[in-house]
Order: sequence, then C-alpha cells, then structure tokens
Amino acid sequence: MIKLRLPNSYFEGHEDTITLVWRRTLVADFSKREIERAIRRKFRVSVEVNVEDGYLVINTDNEDIERFIAFYIQNNLGGLLKNRYTKRKVIYIHEGMGVPLLGYNAFGLIDRGTNLIQVRGSTGCNMRCIFCSVDEGPYSRTRKLDFVVDIDYLLKWFDWVAKEKGKGLEAHLDAQGEPLLYPFIVELVQALREHPHVSVISMQSNGVLLNDKLVEELAEAGLDRVNLSIHSLDPEKAKMLMGIKDYDLNHVLEMAEALVNAGIDVLIAPVIMFGVNDDEAEAFIEFARRIGAGKRWPALGFQNYIPYKFGRNPVIAKPVPFKEFYRWLRELEEKTGMKPLILKPHHFGMYPRPFIPLAFKRGEVVKAEVILPGRIEGEMIAKARNRLIQVINSNAKVGDRIKVKIVRTRHGIYVGTPV
Ligand code: SF4
Repeated sequence: MIKLRLPNSYFEGHEDTITLVWRRTLVADFSKREIERAIRRKFRVSVEVNVEDGYLVINTDNEDIERFIAFYIQNNLGGLLKNRYTKRKVIYIHEGMGVPLLGYNAFGLIDRGTNLIQVRGSTGCNMRCIFCSVDEGPYSRTRKLDFVVDIDYLLKWFDWVAKEKGKGLEAHLDAQGEPLLYPFIVELVQALREHPHVSVISMQSNGVLLNDKLVEELAEAGLDRVNLSIHSLDPEKAKMLMGIKDYDLNHVLEMAEALVNAGIDVLIAPVIMFGVNDDEAEAFIEFARRIGAGKRWPALGFQNYIPYKFGRNPVIAKPVPFKEFYRWLRELEEKTGMKPLILKPHHFGMYPRPFIPLAFKRGEVVKAEVILPGRIEGEMIAKARNRLIQVINSNAKVGDRIKVKIVRTRHGIYVGTPV
C-alpha cells in the first residue's frame, strides 16, 4: 500500500475526484479515473486510488508508481490550480513568465508616492460583502480568474522597489480580496521583516481565516498591524453585510483580541453605510477600547461607503458626501473621546517619497505584448518597458503584439486602450 502526501498539502476524496489542497487556499481537482488510467498505461497494472486521512492511497507496493504519481500531480498542478474559496482558475505567476510586478492593481506592488508600498500577492476573497468595491468573493459577477505571485519572485521585485524608495518603508499587504488567501503569507511577512528597508509590516484582513496558530505564526514572523474589517457587531447584520451565511462574527472578534494579545496592533476598519451600521459606531469604539486596539496606531479606521463602477453597490447603502462623513467623525470624537477618528497619513508614519519614475506618459502610444488575460470581461494585461498595462475594451489574445494608448498613469498603475 502506498500512502502519498506532498509538501504543504493534503488530499480530500470526493466521489470521482481527488482534491489536492495546497497551502490552505489553493486546490486542484484530479480525476480519480485519470490517475488510475495513467498508472495502467505506464505500468500495465490496475490499481485503485483513494484518500485516507489526507493521504493519497494506492493499493500497490511499487515505489515507482509512487514516484510517478507524485510527478504526475506536480506536472498537472499548474493547469488545474483553483482558488479554494472563489473556485476560480488561478494563474500562478513565477519568474520564468517574465511578468513585471509594477503597473497593475490586482497583483504585484503599488507605489503611491509615499514610504508605504502595497504588496499584493494574490487576488480573491472568502467573503462576498454586499458593498465590495471590487465585486470579490465566490459567485462574483465580474471577476473571471485569480492570480497568485510566487513568493521569491514577489520579493525580488520588492527588493528592487525598496532600494529605489529608500529606508523606513511600510510594507502593506493588501489585495483585491483577502490577503490571508496568499498561500505564502507567513513566509512573506518573515522575509519582509528581514528586509533592511522595511520598518513596518501591516496587513488588511477580514479576519475570518485567522486562528490561534496563524496569529502566533504571524506575530513570530514580525507582523506589526492588522487593519481588521468588521462591519457590524450584530451577528445577523454582520452575516448580511459580509454576504456569507456562516460568517462567524464571534470568531473574528476573538481573533481581534488574539492579535492584540500576540503583540500585533489592530485597527478596526468598518465601512460605514448610513442607515445601516452608523448607529454601531460607539459600540465599535467600545470594542476597540476593550481589546486594547490602537497601541501604536489609531484604533479605528471608519471608512465612508462609496459606490464603484465594478463594485457591488447595494440599494440599502446611501452614499454620504465626505464633508458630512467628517462632521460625523468629529462629533464622534467629541462624544466618545476616542481620537483620532479622522485619520491622516502622519498618524501612520506615512509621508511623501519620490515615486518610482513613470514608464509612460498619458496619451502616449506604446507597442506592448499581451501576456495575460485580465480579471474582467474585455480586460487583457500587456507588458512594455518592464511594466504591466491593463488594456481595457480589448479583444486581443495572449501573445498578440498590439499598440496601446495610455489613458491613465496615476500612481504608476497603467491603463490603456487598443489603437
Ligand atoms: S470588501 Fe473585502 S472582505 Fe468583503 S468581499 Fe470585498 S475584498 Fe472581500
């Protein structure tokens, strides 16, 4: 009997398929029959393939079959990789693909002209908040696929960016989605901690995938702060807002406390929708105080709900002008004594730093190579001058060489249209 398990993974058995779960968040479905057929073709023996306690079990003692199957799985993994939560196909970006990691907002690095660098290792979310600005999570209407960037490759680009930007950086792990879905999250924090130009490592999270072990690992790796998205302290309302019926508010609240206890600062970051959860503001403040959030940084980061073109914009949420929102925050500061609630970059030790020079000018027409499909309909990703360009309204295919007019360059995120 052969019992097989690959590094950082386990198997799940279903009726006709065997699912490899790799690093918590990625999966690949293999057909049981295909595996058995591959063995039959190669070794001329009939075997039965099953799963027991996370192991792939084959009723043979032939060690060559074990090696063959390990190779077979690794060989087919790339094409079958899916996000465990969104169920979407995953494109795994590694060094050999020659994909620049600057220029696109869904993965890679973003420099917005300060000492903070956004680090985006993956896309995809385990929640489906009814107000999500990027229409993320399972059953998204607009997102077609997910990306995961290999950690060594991401760090290589980070190192280059960090050298350009200088010392005293904040590496902020965020995503179009949930950063904890990044399969190498702990290793990423650890490597950033060791980078001589990084002073602070912070992360955005909805907290659902945290557990005591992961909190400990993140703390040991050197994570400084989590901006935790909690939008209601009422379990039923929270479920409604997060769009997932088994969303466990209590677990997230416990994890908030666990983070603080492990030495990771917490900033509670509710999205405020007036008429929906603005009445909970004082309860959020109370909760933040109780768990000891905001030790080095502000304890609360109330965000004003804004509708987005490709986001989910629920009818129950009434957008409120920022002037009104700030007035509301000022009143709250006065009433509760919790300050600051109106957050400024200096509260986070953020200050302007020269941008990495732009690679393109607005209006410029450049020759680019289409290298990846985009995440939404009509979007393709092209590269030129070692930068990515999000090409919209495109029907180009991967491999095409096209001319692109750059229509947007803000913060080094390049958007172009075909000409
Ligand atoms: S708002 Fe954040 S947590 Fe909610 S679905 Fe979107 S990416 Fe996920």
